[in-house]
Order: sequence, then structure tokens, then C-alpha cells
Amino acid sequence: MIDIIECCMCKKITKANLILKNNNICEDCEKKIIGTKTDHQDYLKYKEGIKRLLCYSHQDK
Ligand SMILES: [Zn+2]
Repeated sequence: MIDIIECCMCKKITKANLILKNNNICEDCEKKIIGTKTDHQDYLKYKEGIKRLLCYSHQDK
């Protein structure tokens, strides 16, 4: 069974890849997060995205 789920970072509908707190991060975004250096301008964007995701799921409970 393949789960099709929205990526929480880019909002693309994709197959389940990395499930974090019941949210999916697609393969593309996972690679970008892993491949982005900490001094790259996009790093903050991804970091904030994951932070929002974690904060949101905490508030949910
Ligand atoms: Zn994505």
C-alpha cells in the first residue's frame, strides 16, 4: 500500500516519504534539507518549516 499525502513543506501531493508528527516531508524536500548548508539562505526557511510543524503538532494535543 502506498500512502499519498501532502508534503508539509512544499504542499505537493506525493507518496509518503518521511513522516514527522503525522505530517509528510517529500523526498525532494528531505534532500534539500539534508543538502542545505547551515549558512545557506534556504537553511533558515527549512528550519522554520520544521519548527512550525513541530510547534503546531504540540499545540494540537
Ligand atoms: Zn516537499
